[in-house]
Amino acid sequence: MTLLDAVVVGSGPNGLAAAVTLARAGLGVRVLEAQPTVGGGARTLPVAGLDDDLVFDLCSAVHPMAWASPFLRAFDLPARGVDLVAPDIAYAQPLDGDRAGLAYRDLDRTAERLGPDGDAWRGLLGPLAASWRQVTALALGDKRTPRGMLEGVPGRAAPATMLRPGLRFGTALLEQGGPRWDRRFLTDEAKALLTGVAAHNITPLPSLAGAGTALLLAALAHADGGWAIPVGGSQAITDALVHDLEAHGGSVETGRRVEAWSDLPPARAVLFDTTPATALAVAGDRIGPARRAALRRFRYGNAAAKVDFVLSGPVPWRVPDVGRASTVHVGGTRAEMVIAEDTVAHGLHADQPVLLVSDPSVADPGRLRGGLRPLWTYAHVPAGSPHDVTEEVTRQIERFAPGFRDVVVASRCVPAAQMEQHNQNYPGGDISAGAATMWQMVARPTAAPDPYLLAEGVYLCSASTPPGPGVHGMGGWHAARRALRREFDVRTEPSLWP
Ligand SMILES: Cc1cc2nc3c(=O)[nH]c(=O)nc-3n(C[C@H](O)[C@H](O)[C@H](O)COP(=O)(O)OP(=O)(O)OC[C@H]3O[C@@H](n4cnc5c(N)ncnc54)[C@H](O)[C@@H]3O)c2cc1C
Repeated sequence: MTLLDAVVVGSGPNGLAAAVTLARAGLGVRVLEAQPTVGGGARTLPVAGLDDDLVFDLCSAVHPMAWASPFLRAFDLPARGVDLVAPDIAYAQPLDGDRAGLAYRDLDRTAERLGPDGDAWRGLLGPLAASWRQVTALALGDKRTPRGMLEGVPGRAAPATMLRPGLRFGTALLEQGGPRWDRRFLTDEAKALLTGVAAHNITPLPSLAGAGTALLLAALAHADGGWAIPVGGSQAITDALVHDLEAHGGSVETGRRVEAWSDLPPARAVLFDTTPATALAVAGDRIGPARRAALRRFRYGNAAAKVDFVLSGPVPWRVPDVGRASTVHVGGTRAEMVIAEDTVAHGLHADQPVLLVSDPSVADPGRLRGGLRPLWTYAHVPAGSPHDVTEEVTRQIERFAPGFRDVVVASRCVPAAQMEQHNQNYPGGDISAGAATMWQMVARPTAAPDPYLLAEGVYLCSASTPPGPGVHGMGGWHAARRALRREFDVRTEPSLWP
């Protein structure tokens, strides 16, 4: 059997980012994917039991990081024909009555609409949006090395340009991640608008990690590319990566679940785009005892239950502009979302759960078929929940969009407990592949100086490594470049340019 240079286990965005980086350095690379289709958290497919002509994003749908991530920026999706379209409203937060918070891409317009909170919103997010390259480098860095925290910041003076944005980000993090978070804003609209983004982490609020996510994503909403939706769905990102991999001699084999070392073809390096638990099960006896013990302590978090709907028309939001946003955060006021997230943290289902809702046809009318449209939603639930949340999701949307039930043609729920069946990286429905707490966002998967290297020739490169969840490819890129230097003595980084 020929010796491959590298095998990548898993074809999510991080696995493909790693594979592309290695293949572009001239190495022989094979990706083994357990599922029948490629892409992990970035797949768009018809769903059995729903309309055959409609396609649904099985996991990720909205992609600010597709244009902002240093890896994907260097890879340049638009130059490869991936159209990233962002509506002029990035995210919205409907409230009872005729109220809603709206985050326009235009910061001034957002501030204007927030009335008495306009200046406070501008003061918090304006400077971060203006230095989005530095903010993104900090948030998507390897959390270990100066170089790994400067990715994508151009120029020799890069370290100096990090200072002010870094201080601003840190100060804002302390403010929005702790008890002082309520002091900045007066209105329900502004408070709820930012809380909806912080809730992405599915942890109790306020929290430092939630604030980090909120500040990064809210800043990107007001920066260059906004909260983009790829035309055709998330699969477009996967297809561009696979196309590049194949053009550089690499390959992907689907339907190849790796459960033991003997399932792997001989290779000089193996990169796991998997959970630490899978890497331990396959390569545990190659990993030193201390690292093994630390990996076993890695904690998985609470979960999401997905509901995909087929609708006969747009969601009838009481505030019609809500329907123009890439993402709608449904959960009511800040106080209501805090209760909902706390309830989930206590292992219970919230009566009024936090939902993420996206109608991709808002940005991509090509997703409509004969008057029907897909609606992507998920609800926050306790880890491992087997509960079908269709009714709760429908009721929550109906609360802010009376008449929603009347436009529902069909729906399909994937309870949290079943998420693993279509992606082993989401144990119990943990879509972050590891609890997104502050400690685990930094010391991910362990506090080791190199978070990616597990053993000689064995690397972890998934969302369970820094910088954590999201379609950005950064975990794969950080890990592959370490493997290039360490295993193959390749010192010149391959260009990712199309
Ligand atoms: C419902 C949902 C909504 C989301 N929404 C967004 C969003 O809107 N925007 C965003 O940026 N992110 C979103 N995310 C998160 C994002 O999808 C993930 O963080 C991202 O896909 C992680 O990439 P990855 O490469 O680390 O792993 P994944 O994309 O999870 O891919 C891992 C791959 O490894 C394969 N695999 C695992 N174990 C094995 C094995 N033993 N053998 C072979 N193959 C294996 C899996 O089948 C999978 O294909 C969402 C996730 C979910 C589930």
